[in-house]
Amino acid sequence: MALTTEQTRELKSLISGRRNALIAELSEDVRKTRAERYGEVAGEVPDHGDESVASLIADLDQAELSRDVDELRGLEAAHERIANGDYGVCVDCGRDIGFERLRATPSAIRCIACQTLHEKTFAGPGSPSL
Ligand SMILES: [Zn+2]
Repeated sequence: MALTTEQTRELKSLISGRRNALIAELSEDVRKTRAERYGEVAGEVPDHGDESVASLIADLDQAELSRDVDELRGLEAAHERIANGDYGVCVDCGRDIGFERLRATPSAIRCIACQTLHEKTFAGPGSPSL
């Protein structure tokens, strides 16, 4: 069953809320990381211009932040799919992902069956035989 307008609206606000919280969290993490790294020269940090964007990405790429960054990417993509009207459709089998699953994981792009298969295929225990 496809999502109703009401359900889409609920998921959209869930995504926006989570997205804003993540952005705030990530900005705070980056600020802290920079304060730690450049703490001793606080007050005379030179203006790096374009370099500051690269360093922001470098900061965000740190291991402890990458999970949040991945989630943020997923939420951005979900936001886009809502705008395009193809949100809630499994990218693998084309069936509806289901409201309950989307409410638990708004950035989900696969139905439970395909996600399980995907995890078994790409992240399963043991190495695949060649
Ligand atoms: Zn599927």
